[in-house]
Amino acid sequence: MFGLNKLFKKDNPLEQQIISELAAFKNGVFPLGINADWITNIDVQKSPIEVSLQLPFASNGMASLLSDTLSKRLDKRFDVTMTCILPKQYQYKEIKHIVLVASGKGGVGKSTTAVHIARALQAQGAKVGVLDADIYGPSIPSLFSVLGEKPTTHDNKTLNPIIKDEIKVQSIGFLVSPEDATVWRGPMASQALSQLLNETQWGEIDYLIVDMPPGTGDIQLTMTQKVPASGALIVTTPQDLALLDAQKGIAMFNKVNLPVLGVVENMSHFICTHCGEKSHVFGTRGAEQLAQRHGVPLLAEIPLNAKIREASEHKQTMLAHDTGIFEHYIACAQLLSSMLYYQALSTSTVDIVITDD
Ligand code: ADP
Repeated sequence: MFGLNKLFKKDNPLEQQIISELAAFKNGVFPLGINADWITNIDVQKSPIEVSLQLPFASNGMASLLSDTLSKRLDKRFDVTMTCILPKQYQYKEIKHIVLVASGKGGVGKSTTAVHIARALQAQGAKVGVLDADIYGPSIPSLFSVLGEKPTTHDNKTLNPIIKDEIKVQSIGFLVSPEDATVWRGPMASQALSQLLNETQWGEIDYLIVDMPPGTGDIQLTMTQKVPASGALIVTTPQDLALLDAQKGIAMFNKVNLPVLGVVENMSHFICTHCGEKSHVFGTRGAEQLAQRHGVPLLAEIPLNAKIREASEHKQTMLAHDTGIFEHYIACAQLLSSMLYYQALSTSTVDIVITDD
């Protein structure tokens, strides 16, 4: 491990330069640069020079940008590799972070966003689970192509999640018919969410993404109070009505002191497949202004794209090979995981003891 060689590094100017360049590398994902403690190895004898990082959040895809940056800055070839190991701070059982994905209004693409962010977090190196709590239209089983599957149990008390592409999936849709669930009142809905969370064998996961029912009423409020979440993401489209409802969503989370981690603007714009021109079909800058007004980041502007709709109709999701679209979710996942890391750092209390001597 590189940590053991830290004294030796002091004698090697190139290694020192690499460490300084990494410390100075700042962007939205690395707001404070790259901590020297995250460097697990530097091999200047290799060509390209190898640099290995172990990040406390999911951003493995940043490796190529870092390789390019180091190559430009130091005029040598670099190969940066990254792994992701989150600190062992559990929010609930062996779950490190729970993130609620909410929307003020139905049909804005909340479930689509939840699933793609889950996939993107996993593509960036994290262990991920998805909990579908959308009692009004559980679409997660369909989006993961596991419709009709039934979770198994080994002790008649707890349920094993369905595992799809290494993501652990649990849905209200696996357990009750949609007709039954839609007539539930608040207490039943929140009870169902608690049960799904408590009685699923999640094992150790970094991020549990919860697809909440749309709306900002009592049901959503009670559900929010039942889950020890790190924060919520608000999905909206640029239309005025959706934005108004999104604003109510932010107010709801503020009421229960749950941090709003950011806003995702879905169907943000349309890029013409013929001329490449970007048009803002549903209006412009609405989500940006909403985010600004509430002091939260706008984490992504996902285009309106036929492939996203087609994929969901074919009971699939976009994957890493659909780079043009999936990269929006990747960027969002990187920002989200970095924010959660720094948020946890800032809320972990440090006791400062002042003594007379
Ligand atoms: P919600 O969970 O908010 O009800 P869904 O995620 O189920 O919304 O999405 C509603 C419909 O819109 C689905 O058919 C989905 O495929 C489609 N959709 C979502 N996001 C996009 C997008 N960015 N471009 C095109 N279609 C989209």
